[in-house]
Amino acid sequence: MATPIYLDHAAATPLDEGILKQMLPYLTEQFYNPSATYLAAKKVRHAIDDARSRTAKVLDVRPGEIIFTAGATEANNLAIHGVMAKHPNGKVLVSAVEHDSVLQAAKQYNCQIIPVDTFGHVDVESLTKMLSDDVVLVSCMWINNEVGTIAYMGLIRQAVLAAREARIMRGNFTPLYLHTDGAQAPNLIHLLPKRQGIDLLSLNGGKIYGPKQSGALYVAAGVDLEPLLYGGGQERGLRSGTENVANIVGFSLALEKASSRRNGEEKRPQKLQKLFRELLVNLEPKVTVTLPVAEAYNFVHIMVQGADNERLMMELDEAGIQCAVGSACSASDDEPSHVLKAMGFSDQQAQSSLRFTMGRQTSEADVRKTVTVLAKLV
Ligand code: PLP
Repeated sequence: MATPIYLDHAAATPLDEGILKQMLPYLTEQFYNPSATYLAAKKVRHAIDDARSRTAKVLDVRPGEIIFTAGATEANNLAIHGVMAKHPNGKVLVSAVEHDSVLQAAKQYNCQIIPVDTFGHVDVESLTKMLSDDVVLVSCMWINNEVGTIAYMGLIRQAVLAAREARIMRGNFTPLYLHTDGAQAPNLIHLLPKRQGIDLLSLNGGKIYGPKQSGALYVAAGVDLEPLLYGGGQERGLRSGTENVANIVGFSLALEKASSRRNGEEKRPQKLQKLFRELLVNLEPKVTVTLPVAEAYNFVHIMVQGADNERLMMELDEAGIQCAVGSACSASDDEPSHVLKAMGFSDQQAQSSLRFTMGRQTSEADVRKTVTVLAKLV
């Protein structure tokens, strides 16, 4: 049987073989606990320090501002709970299209949902009105994991900064932080949180050809967080537990590689997305592309009139094409996508939608074959 065409890179990317090679020593002979004090263990500690410096360099921040986590779910939870536990009387604002690791964490507190438009862009006017004096945290994801919308982060930041300054002018020093879930972003966006006015940034290794259960939270100096886990005090006391050195090393290398490839690689996936969207025009009106204008160039999200997406996805799978129904990150959820509903689509439209996400190995032939198979099935 032919190798399947994998078009679900927003769910998981294959581990880069070069990165795996550099991780392996920390799973075998360099197994030492990095907190031990003999020489061999100190070398392992050095590997973590090195990974932290590399990560910080890519983001242009200080090493001490990087907290390694086991993926973006944990980074998001640390950001939300970390801030809100310090400010139990404060309010958190989150966009309606967030991943559940943000949305559900925020709902544990006094939380308000920021509406989005039909593209999934945060309504900045609403956000501005919602920034009352008790808001301590705003969380808006950078690239949406279901449809690929890229947030207008500059406008969001401006709204938050303006509210912060206005507060200070009134003598109100309640902090107001901006968090963004950047799990889908490093392959596409040059992330410079300090310059971009972001206080907390969640990252994920498993979406950038690094290991799963690896990631980080950037915590700007001065942002005070309550830890999720208590114990040995690793990661500045914010993430206790013996470090997963192989994953930390793998994550930092993956982030570096995503950053260095981004500039050279941009044109290829953009061309693929253009081709994909053009070929899909031939399937109209049965098939429509969800976003009228292409955003993140590795995403193609469609709706198929009258189709049941679970069934269509399985038929595509049988035909050798692997894609996704909504977001694979909420594996146990049968509900119609909250993202599409927030964008104004009906339950029925949401349940007729499919997500294709391309990656480093995707070819033009893969795209052509996918549309040909889809044409036969719909
Ligand atoms: N945030 C976004 C935007 C995601 O796409 C995902 C997973 O796909 C996550 C958070 C959670 O990542 P993980 O399950 O690796 O912790």
